[in-house]
Amino acid sequence: MISSEQGLFGEFGGRYVPEILRPALCQLEDMYQQLRSDETFWQEYLQLTQEFSGRPTPLTALPRLSELLGGAKIWLKREDLNHSGAHKINNVLGQALLVKRMGKQRIIAETGAGQHGLATAIIAARMGLQATIYMGSEDVERQYSNVFWMRQLGAEVVPVNHGSCTLKDALDEALRDWAASVDDTHYVLGTACGPAPFPELVTYFQRVISQEIRAQAKHQIGALPNAVVACVGGGSNALGAFCDFLDEPSVRLLGVEAGGRSQQPGQHSIRLHGDLASPGIAQGYKTLFLQNRNGQLGETHSIAAGLDYVGVSPVLADLVARGRVDATSATDAEVTHAFQLLMRYEGIIPALESSHALAGGFALAKEMQPQEHVVINLSGRGDKDIFNIAQALPQQEWLDFLEREVARTEQRLKESAQCPNGEEQYVSNG
Ligand SMILES: *Cc1c(COP(=O)(O)O)cnc(C)c1O
Repeated sequence: MISSEQGLFGEFGGRYVPEILRPALCQLEDMYQQLRSDETFWQEYLQLTQEFSGRPTPLTALPRLSELLGGAKIWLKREDLNHSGAHKINNVLGQALLVKRMGKQRIIAETGAGQHGLATAIIAARMGLQATIYMGSEDVERQYSNVFWMRQLGAEVVPVNHGSCTLKDALDEALRDWAASVDDTHYVLGTACGPAPFPELVTYFQRVISQEIRAQAKHQIGALPNAVVACVGGGSNALGAFCDFLDEPSVRLLGVEAGGRSQQPGQHSIRLHGDLASPGIAQGYKTLFLQNRNGQLGETHSIAAGLDYVGVSPVLADLVARGRVDATSATDAEVTHAFQLLMRYEGIIPALESSHALAGGFALAKEMQPQEHVVINLSGRGDKDIFNIAQALPQQEWLDFLEREVARTEQRLKESAQCPNGEEQYVSNG
């Protein structure tokens, strides 16, 4: 299990917040320290995930794609089958149990892809809590179906209209709200980032993913997998999938970041590899940030709203620095290709975020041996992305369609020319 001294992971992490937030973070820290060794609390949490979110999620073999790619056997950990369509609910259900213990009546959250906001709105409705969700205005537009459902569930969705109008701005706004409302409000942070104890707390709940992979691999594969692959936005699904393998050196761990359009500033969200990001302190913690020489946070881009973030989990930054986790990235184009492969060969519709893990995982599998096994964490399903995907699958689909239509028309013309008295002839003359 992950643990830290003072919320520090190597040189990363910590708690850099206004004085007014300290008591709430310390209360949360104390509660977490009490609960993390309490097996009955973990059982209570597992029961909630089973009854409300359908856990355990399956480990699914991909026989056709494995054969096509010709390398390792590929498996998917199906976090897409959670209630609300992604892994985010694992963390929200855990924090909801803490809110119950603290007796607070209101929860707030930041959201990028909207999956965390949706999961938060769902638990607020179930527990009779008031919920306010902060979301960058660009993301409100990109992920409108989630915004619609959050509002239907009774949550207030506040579009954030400054900065780059994405996740980092929503996170700032949520911290600002919390500083003013901390007495009756809990901030349900959605990923393994932010001030301590959030990085460790969120990892603790997401760990259920690797616990299950371990048990399922033993049963279905008969051994540990040779590699586990996950996409990296803030880092929570990756840490969840990696956690229980950290002490197993035979298991390679690979995080895949958003390579975006290119490695030019503002065109990607690569923080963990190369030297595009550098250590800095912002948003309550120290990590690798995309920033300019003056420490001003940079712009990011990803085809997937959930990966479009300037910082990254301090836990993951440290694991990469220590060489335990490898990092790579996938471009928007590679991601759309991987997305199509999974749909056409295996009948599964992945989220664009998760398709980064697919792109990285497929490339890795190709280099591996047929008797080896790679598990890719499918963090979410693609329903929410329907319009973005329709836009991103471009030209190609459309050109194929046009080509087919032209061929069909030519065929029809040819047929009607051979049959001068036919209806076609009549219509075209008319
Ligand atoms: C939010 C999200 C991510 C990225 O967040 P992490 O904290 O890095 O896991 C990835 N996939 C999906 C489907 C998401 O909704």
